[in-house]
Amino acid sequence: MTGWSVAILLLLGLIGLHLGWRRRYRSLALGQAASLTSAPGMTDLFADMSEGVLITNQKGIIEFANPAFCRLFELADDPKGQTVMEAIRIHQANELVEQLKEENSVVQGEFMLPDLHQRFLQVNGVAIREKQGRHRGAILVFHDLTRLKRLENLRQEFVANVSHELRTPLSIIKGYVETLLDAEPDVGSLSHRFLKKIENHSDRLTYLIEDILTLSHLETGDTGLDQREVNIHQLVEAVLDGLREMADKKKVQLKNSVPENLTLFADSQRLFQALNNLVENGIKYGGQRVCVSASQADGELDLCVADDGPGIPAEVCDRIFERFFRVDKARSRELGGTGLGLSIVKHITQLHSGTARVESELGQGARFHLTFPIRNMTTGIQAEAT
Ligand code: ADP
Repeated sequence: MTGWSVAILLLLGLIGLHLGWRRRYRSLALGQAASLTSAPGMTDLFADMSEGVLITNQKGIIEFANPAFCRLFELADDPKGQTVMEAIRIHQANELVEQLKEENSVVQGEFMLPDLHQRFLQVNGVAIREKQGRHRGAILVFHDLTRLKRLENLRQEFVANVSHELRTPLSIIKGYVETLLDAEPDVGSLSHRFLKKIENHSDRLTYLIEDILTLSHLETGDTGLDQREVNIHQLVEAVLDGLREMADKKKVQLKNSVPENLTLFADSQRLFQALNNLVENGIKYGGQRVCVSASQADGELDLCVADDGPGIPAEVCDRIFERFFRVDKARSRELGGTGLGLSIVKHITQLHSGTARVESELGQGARFHLTFPIRNMTTGIQAEAT
């Protein structure tokens, strides 16, 4: 055979290979679930995965389930040909398949298996579509989060237990210091000054422990939410009343601009705590005015705590709700701050399905917004918010 014929044969071979792969690629891109599962090697690939993989067709019927999926859901038989609901009876997974008929993007869900072992799963799903957008099915990938969740719970329990254990010795130290202070009338003496320092630091530790305990209760959700119709104007009034003495000392003016009959379906104690933290910060970090207002737009209720203080650098506004994040550590400590106040605010807001954010720039004051979906309310806003 001449060199030319070898070259021609090679060329023909390459063209054949290219056309073969192009066809396979197109069938995948067109999202034909059937051809995906029948593609040689594809099922072997899924079979070896530790995540559960499920492929459904356009009718929501299972085309393929890998062994990890069957293990996760303790299925004795291959669920091929059944609907997701028939196979695993998890309505969240079924809803995800339904959702993927409308949505293109990957969606995520997390749920607990209704068995005795309290197992947690996370599922990612992606719709399979033709180029024209016609829905051809879905691929769902299930991750077992049980071990991670257990570790997370252990950590939360540990933090809660340590904080709880620290409470008692700390209150004893505080008790003794107070007694010693009473017995030392000379305010200028060295021992009085030292005792005062011990008292200040034990107060700081107490605030820190209380904040850590609050956060851990919020995280574990063991206290739950006691939600009912709350009059926001009255709630803000109670927050401002509690902080008036502190504001007067710092010559800060407080204003409640929330409409009088505005209501929100919420846990009043928790919401009080969130607003209290925000108004207290407004007073603590300077400025002359702190104002609480409310507005309604696009099905959401926005509560805003605004101050005309030094503001927060725009580049750290995204990080301000992180635990222990402070713009000026020394100043926060000096003012008795723990660095956890805003983290508590964020958690409380999220428990109410809301979001917390801040708008600020250095020297421009700060506007903290807590936004809640109106579906969270039973009767909604009774008066137009300002
Ligand atoms: P802290 O206990 O330190 O006040 P927070 O979580 O409540 O902790 O606040 C975190 C940091 O955000 C504060 O240390 C402060 O630097 C900044 N901050 C919070 N509120 C304001 C505000 N109204 N104006 C300026 N800075 C603020």
